[in-house]
Amino acid sequence: MSPDEKPVIAVDVGGTQLRAALYLDESLNPVKIARSNTRHPTETPLDRLISLIESIWPDDKTVTAIGVAAAGPLDPFEGIIFEAPNVPGWVDLPIKSKLEDCFHTTVALGNDANMAAIGEWRYGAGIGHHHVIYITVSTGIGGGIIVDDRLLLGVRGLAAEIGHITVLPDGPLCGCGHRGHLEALASGPAIARWVSQEISQGAHSILPGGETLSAKMIAEAARSGDELSIEAFDRAGTFLGRAVADFAHIFNPSIVIIGGGVSRAGPLLIEPMQAALRKYVISKHYAEELILTTAALGDEAGLVGAMALARSISQ
Ligand SMILES: [Zn+2]
Repeated sequence: MSPDEKPVIAVDVGGTQLRAALYLDESLNPVKIARSNTRHPTETPLDRLISLIESIWPDDKTVTAIGVAAAGPLDPFEGIIFEAPNVPGWVDLPIKSKLEDCFHTTVALGNDANMAAIGEWRYGAGIGHHHVIYITVSTGIGGGIIVDDRLLLGVRGLAAEIGHITVLPDGPLCGCGHRGHLEALASGPAIARWVSQEISQGAHSILPGGETLSAKMIAEAARSGDELSIEAFDRAGTFLGRAVADFAHIFNPSIVIIGGGVSRAGPLLIEPMQAALRKYVISKHYAEELILTTAALGDEAGLVGAMALARSISQ
């Protein structure tokens, strides 16, 4: 091993898929990557994760750290997953100590949206910025906030739940059980639900309506000129842009990065966001040099962030 090589392993725990990657140096390209389904009829998700890490362990090298990105809520300081949505049996799981006992190397844990924020900040659209807000818009809405070159964690490590701010009191029910949260109005399923409701109430669209609609289908329809689909993105983008104006007032970032599957709609989402941001800031100084852009790393952001986390604790 050359002196500048610090092999680290990054892990991304998703509800459907586990991913583990071995990185050398500062390169973004893993030398080994492995995936497996989170659920299995006989093996537990933790056993599957351990086997996955073993499968990419380098034969002749020491791994200096392991970084784990997982859906929260979790405690990044103690490395405990309180409750993993979609991962059976992961309640109050001390994943850091379990993996440290197993692999005899330092392990750090982070919320997946926070890790994606770090990935985009260090290696993606946010390079060179010191005040960054990252928002992932997919089946849910999450994010991460970088203030003065540090990830904002909060006292229990639970900060930056960007999707669960109230933007429409008494609005639609959110996955968390409360009403009117940003996630309930601007996530992929929220966009699809709104279009489907409008169609069932007689609105005209080239889309069929019903339960099978997705934000991706709506984006395609919008691109071919479907007015209802354009309006759906306009509506979601306006809610998001208004939220970004609120964040700008509190954190005064230089860049806001939008990731997650719904961000692939590009200008359909970003343009109404930009318009709402400009409309709702209390002074033009908040918005005039604020960059609003889509993410650069795509689905790899969480894994890359876990790699950056592992690198930050590796010795
Ligand atoms: Zn919520």
